[in-house]
Amino acid sequence: MNNPEHNPGSTPDPIRDEGSRLSRRQAITGGFAALTAVGGGSSLWQWIRNLARDESPADVFKGDAPSDAVWKLWCERGWTLEARHYLKLGRNVQCKVCPNNCILEPGDRSHCRNRINRDGILYTMAYGNPCTFHVDPIEKKPLFHFLPGSQSFSLATSGCVFRCLNCQNWEISQKKPEETKDPTGPAFYLKPPLPESIRLQDLYRLTLLPDQLPPVVKVLNCPSVSYTYSEPTAYFEYALDCCKMAREHRLKNVLVTCGSIEERPLREILQYVDAAHVDLKGFSDETYRQLNSGKLEPILNTLRVYRSLGVWFEVINLVVPTYTDHLDEIRRMSDWLVKNLGPDQPLHFSRFHPQHKLTHLPPTPVAFLVKAREIARSAGLRYVYVGNAPEVTDGETTFCPGCRRPVVERQIFAVTRLDIVDGRCRHCQTPIAGRWEDRRG
Ligand code: SF4
Repeated sequence: MNNPEHNPGSTPDPIRDEGSRLSRRQAITGGFAALTAVGGGSSLWQWIRNLARDESPADVFKGDAPSDAVWKLWCERGWTLEARHYLKLGRNVQCKVCPNNCILEPGDRSHCRNRINRDGILYTMAYGNPCTFHVDPIEKKPLFHFLPGSQSFSLATSGCVFRCLNCQNWEISQKKPEETKDPTGPAFYLKPPLPESIRLQDLYRLTLLPDQLPPVVKVLNCPSVSYTYSEPTAYFEYALDCCKMAREHRLKNVLVTCGSIEERPLREILQYVDAAHVDLKGFSDETYRQLNSGKLEPILNTLRVYRSLGVWFEVINLVVPTYTDHLDEIRRMSDWLVKNLGPDQPLHFSRFHPQHKLTHLPPTPVAFLVKAREIARSAGLRYVYVGNAPEVTDGETTFCPGCRRPVVERQIFAVTRLDIVDGRCRHCQTPIAGRWEDRRG
């Protein structure tokens, strides 16, 4: 079933919207063209132009799909699958997984680099082929209110839906699958008993299909799997199938995500997700446009959906000098979080260090992070953290909102104090928001 050459879109999928109808954007831009031709009224004209711009799909890589020879090897490895959530527009396709809404002609590659249009069918090339994996403390995600002190099996494929100027993992997030994987030579599978070490050439050839994942995670004594490092939305089908398989084996699933995803696929995957770290990279469209090539509103919608479905999540805001170090924006963001998600919503302010395309900027001043924490606390948030700044000695400490005593202390991803019993403060029995149970799978 993983080889679409042998199963070319034969299974009708209620989620996939078949039929070659015009997208909303095409209808809008078509209307815009007609109005331009007849010289429409200026305010209506401006409104339509803005609407058309908002709905424009992202840039894609024209004609960049792999050759027939590479595609054949890819299929033989089981590294591809027909995509979910897309529209057929004649021989073109439009992906509906994230708000980029890429429109691909045959032979094109998507904005996230992981999807291609081959003969009118959208395929993912990021399936069963993680380019990296690791066992991390859950605190490293960071998640501070979810299975503290546990380890999480963490994996990623190439690709990302964003273009963050400050990306920490651009070596994989801004790469195509073919740049991180090698479909030639003998296949390499990960299964118990695990080897003591793995050579780089084995990692390039590694196949880890969803049904092969749980035995590996269990033998490593991890209660959870994290989809992280790059962006799980860009490898949606693989993450979804792994989540299903992990859930079947009583493992937890953790998404580390930018939150830029359409609501339909989001609701689909959240049925199997136990916790998430969601980046809120700023609190204005302008910031998202300049820093990340994204938009704010889809992220806010994602946060609302998480809350409505009761999936545990923590929000992370990386403070990037000159881009997001605006106290008024932090105030508005904190107020929004309290109003829409409630005072128990954890918020992490994280310190920027020069990365990728922003190596000319200095690290975030620690004093700014402390001020941001003060603002978020005064807005009413109970659990506010300062990360990547060991100078702030209580930056990663959880305080009981009842008696104000420290209940969880952490140092470099290790839990050094845990005074929570049955989800309550050991001293005053005030409930502490989070998922504290099941420290072992
Ligand atoms: S998931 Fe990838 S292919 Fe789909 S819309 Fe987003 S960027 Fe485009």
